[in-house]
Amino acid sequence: MAQITNHMPTAELQALDAAHHMHPFTNGHELAAKGARVITRAKGVWLTDSEGNEILDAMGGLWCVNIGYGREELAEVAARQMRELPYYNTFFQTTHVPAIALAQRLAELAPGDLNHVFFASSGSEANDTNIRMVRTYWAESGKPEKQIIISRKNGYHGSTVGAASLGGMSPMHAQGGLPIPGVHHINQPNWWAEGGDMSPEEFGLARARELEEAIHELGEDKVAAFIAEPIQGAGGVIVPPDNYWPEIQRICDAHEILLIADEVICGFGRTGKWFGSQTMNIRPDIMTVAKGLSSGYAPISASIVSDGVAKVLDACEFNHGYTYSGHPVSAAVALENLRILDEEGIVERVGAETAPYLQEKWERLTDHPLVGEARIVGLMGSVALTPDKDNRAKFAADPGTVGFICRERCFANNLVMRHVGDRMIISPPLVISPSEIDLLIERARLSLDQCLERIASEGLLKAAN
Ligand SMILES: *Cc1c(COP(=O)(O)O)cnc(C)c1O
Repeated sequence: MAQITNHMPTAELQALDAAHHMHPFTNGHELAAKGARVITRAKGVWLTDSEGNEILDAMGGLWCVNIGYGREELAEVAARQMRELPYYNTFFQTTHVPAIALAQRLAELAPGDLNHVFFASSGSEANDTNIRMVRTYWAESGKPEKQIIISRKNGYHGSTVGAASLGGMSPMHAQGGLPIPGVHHINQPNWWAEGGDMSPEEFGLARARELEEAIHELGEDKVAAFIAEPIQGAGGVIVPPDNYWPEIQRICDAHEILLIADEVICGFGRTGKWFGSQTMNIRPDIMTVAKGLSSGYAPISASIVSDGVAKVLDACEFNHGYTYSGHPVSAAVALENLRILDEEGIVERVGAETAPYLQEKWERLTDHPLVGEARIVGLMGSVALTPDKDNRAKFAADPGTVGFICRERCFANNLVMRHVGDRMIISPPLVISPSEIDLLIERARLSLDQCLERIASEGLLKAAN
């Protein structure tokens, strides 16, 4: 068996990939025809592919490489931990130092009385934990009927059966018999796409009040929790109107509904503070964290739980856990990542310098003929592409047709910027420098220009009616 290495010709690697590797969220035949881009190494915000191209990664991997690529310290810590204690479980009345230290540190960083940590390996698993946790909490509190979890259309909470059910992605629900029972979806606060003639404020209030209407309809005694991302990520970086979250918080308080903030993207500096809950000024009972927790260097996630919820769960045996809950190598890597984020002042720098610098340039993209709104909070941003910005019009072509063309242009210009439908989104490493931001904007503008030229020539610059 010949060894497969970075030095093989790209075409051979692509052929082997197509033959044996099944990609997530991908049409295998289409990819096989085209060939996957082979990424070989990375440093800072830069990826290198097998052809030697240097690509600016404005997505931070999948929203996760907060401290940037190539930090030796994390490699050192992982190697040291593997030598000392590569694995032990935390099921049967045992523990280990990396899990203790990371739980303590997360309790310190998390706002309010979020002081208790249940570990898993991915955001999806942590949200599955949350489903069982909130239902068990109410059952143990003498309210076993409170079982329904309310979430939002176009929200993203992961890809396991439970997490995808919480999510509101209809293409995911269409496969595999989802959602599971006991999940109810309300509409998202996406003013640009769905606000019609309402002002953003009217719309924000109306969409928040859908939670209260759902609670009345389902029965307050039946609803366990509401889960949402402080700012929707995979749904297209949807920033809600300012009055949306305060109203959601009021409703959760008024009706004894646990609030779960899915901080998988927003956590660890993405929004300019440690957590999106602080930026949006909410008080969750549980926070889901993953991605930036280890900057993607090792798989790890957690549910960070309030004193009140933990007290009830601690009084029973919660029959739940994963082989890799609190994995020592992942925990040690996460701890080192948090040390770097803190000691190098990366989170503060995002809030005080990097985000304002990027915001000014990002919002100016609305002067481009294709760009309707441009939204950004911290270092997560989006632009809506439109054939007619005055009317916030959608394209006549299938949703995502134009977005895909724009993404292909970005890729060709060595910029990773993703599309969700016809929104373009970014989430760069938090260590991106001002000159790298300039380059990001320059390449984004070039790609938008080329996209416009192409869709005009193909007759796609038409509004849906
Ligand atoms: C990515 C993501 C998840 C799922 O995390 P995985 O590690 O892919 O399972 C959950 N919630 C949000 C908000 C995410 O962005």
